[in-house]
Amino acid sequence: MSIVRVALDVPVPTLFDYHCEDAGGAQIGARVLVPFGRKQAVGVVLEVSTHSTVDRTKLRPVTRVLEDIEPLPDDLIALLRFCSEYYHHPIGEVVIGALPTRYRRAGAASSRRRPRSFAITPAGRAASSSSALARRPAQRRALARLLQQPDDAASVPPNTAAEQRALKQLVVHGWAKETATEVARTDTSTPPEPAPPLTAEQLAAVRAFCTQPKKFRAWLLHGITGSGKTEVYLHVMAPVLAAGGQVLMLIPEIGLTPQLEARVRARFGGHSVVTLHSALAEGERAANWAMAQSGAARIVLGTRSAIFTPLPRLALVVVDEEHDPSFKQIEGMRYSARDLAIWRARQYDIPVILGSATPSLETYHGVLKGRYGSARLTARANGSLLPRIRIVSTVGVKLMEGLAPQVLAAIEQRRQRSEQALVFINRRGYAPVLVCPACGWAPGCHRCSARMVLHKPRPALSCHHCGHDEPVPVACADCGNVDLRPLGYGTQRIEAALNAAFPTARVLRIDRDTTRKRGAWTDMRLSIDRRDVDLLIGTQLLAKGHDFPGLSLVCVLNADRSLYSTDFRAAEQLFAQLMQVAGRAGRRELPGEVLIQTAFPQHPLYRAVQTHDYDAYAATLLAEREQAGFPPFMFQAVLRAEALRIEDAMAFLRTAALASASFAELVTVFDPTPASMQRLKGRERAQLLVQSASRAALHRFLDRWTLVLRDGKHARVRWDIDVDPLGI
Ligand SMILES: [Zn+2]
Ligand SMILES: [Zn+2]
Repeated sequence: MSIVRVALDVPVPTLFDYHCEDAGGAQIGARVLVPFGRKQAVGVVLEVSTHSTVDRTKLRPVTRVLEDIEPLPDDLIALLRFCSEYYHHPIGEVVIGALPTRYRRAGAASSRRRPRSFAITPAGRAASSSSALARRPAQRRALARLLQQPDDAASVPPNTAAEQRALKQLVVHGWAKETATEVARTDTSTPPEPAPPLTAEQLAAVRAFCTQPKKFRAWLLHGITGSGKTEVYLHVMAPVLAAGGQVLMLIPEIGLTPQLEARVRARFGGHSVVTLHSALAEGERAANWAMAQSGAARIVLGTRSAIFTPLPRLALVVVDEEHDPSFKQIEGMRYSARDLAIWRARQYDIPVILGSATPSLETYHGVLKGRYGSARLTARANGSLLPRIRIVSTVGVKLMEGLAPQVLAAIEQRRQRSEQALVFINRRGYAPVLVCPACGWAPGCHRCSARMVLHKPRPALSCHHCGHDEPVPVACADCGNVDLRPLGYGTQRIEAALNAAFPTARVLRIDRDTTRKRGAWTDMRLSIDRRDVDLLIGTQLLAKGHDFPGLSLVCVLNADRSLYSTDFRAAEQLFAQLMQVAGRAGRRELPGEVLIQTAFPQHPLYRAVQTHDYDAYAATLLAEREQAGFPPFMFQAVLRAEALRIEDAMAFLRTAALASASFAELVTVFDPTPASMQRLKGRERAQLLVQSASRAALHRFLDRWTLVLRDGKHARVRWDIDVDPLGI
């Protein structure tokens, strides 16, 4: 009897044993349908054995081996096992979570076998001239058909059910082999676009990255905005594709994929390109994933979760905007797709390129220490200059609906020259708070420690953390005052102010509320390109990657609130965001200008942005981090707990800290604290930070600790571990 150990989507760190009659089908990596409790669940076979520690009479059989896709390959399983260990997350959740949604659900589990093809074997070639097939005409004809193929690797699908039966008989004799059908979706309708000439810096980068294409090396492509990093990626990809390899390219924003996809398709028309991200329909995502697994898709463009795509011929990994926080998953298994990209490149012994204008300090530190190679792009590819950055002080200045006179004047100037301007404010809605001026009361969300955000034109209050909406109150809940006032500014309020200040201007607001509908953002981008828009108001959706030729002015509002954040990464992230958004201005022939409106004009962060001096600012931040004992000089993990009552969460963490005392070697265990946002979606949250100068010591500690924590009974508390946390 064959025993299979199956990973299932349950929060326990074990595999589940089943017996399986179909020993041939129950290979490692195969998806199976199994009874679990009273339901049927989809699982993945991770081990096959002849014995089980479970009593034989209690073992249940596998319901069915699912054959609609190929079994997961060994290297992907190795990656998933690593994730489970490194991020201390249950193996079953890791494995099932890596599958496209369609392949996780029992209801959708198809009994349809994937299409099969057959190819000849050397034994079959020898047998064709023997008399063994004389009395089996169907098999003889099938073998003859295989023999007509150009080489032994070429496979053919059966034309009829009878031929399929004959081909299967050939397999039984060892004269043919069965292979998965590759559904190649090559786009040959348009001839590939020629590559533009490279600048000297781009060429040097391409040469560096291509020196040893079959050896692991992590490279930083450190290039200012508009310096043509994408062109470098495409040039490095070309020889990889020509040699038959697959390329995985991770990008932070779904919003950027259509443009990038179009560009990649135009360049590599003959090779199949697929995208993988959460905005795809379930069926399309599953189909694209299967194409990557079969090798038919040569280029996979995807967001974070695409790191778990099976890629049998992976030969290059690219992580664009590698500093972007969206590469870190912040719930469930809290992995970093950037870090896993490096792990996967090492696993395959291939190069990985991390690209950014403002690298994460972790990556930059890796370059300084010589662990990563690097190439710099210090000039814009089209010869345009970086925008001039001016700091606009609001100290003692009367603002018009949140806008300084200098900002309004600069916009007016662009209006007269028929150039476009962008006002960047990273806050959607009308006003972040509605307040009673008489007593200071402001409505908060009943489920979160957050103020309700005022939205217009149909006035409503909305919580941006849990999505709860409610009508605007008619009076103050504390003192009955009916004159409630909006406080602060969001995109809608700035939109109203700009419409009032520039009545003839065509104003377009771009935030999550206006781009929710499918295709909305594409339409907006086209209208910006056609110059049907004069003034743009946008959140960070607009900050990254886009190239608007008519845009010559960017005004940044409200950046100050990140300056004095308690999060030690806030400065790094604000600097990156400002450099990104500034990079939208003047990318073509128009000279660009950026105005940063601030109440803290002397702040060193703004000075650094003004001089575009990443290296100097990174050196300052790294020195601060080293002195304070923060990453990248320390390795951290956070134990996060949530419960209905904060006392329960805190008590759990205190117990956890005490329990760790006996084995906390080379590790500092801090006191538990309530989370910076204590209540979220009706649950109270607290956390406990542990850190060590040694990654190995930290993980030895976490291994012990999770065992202890899993043994305990904490009925009222949900907890998990966040390794290499981004926010603390
Ligand atoms: Zn009041
Ligand atoms: Zn809420």
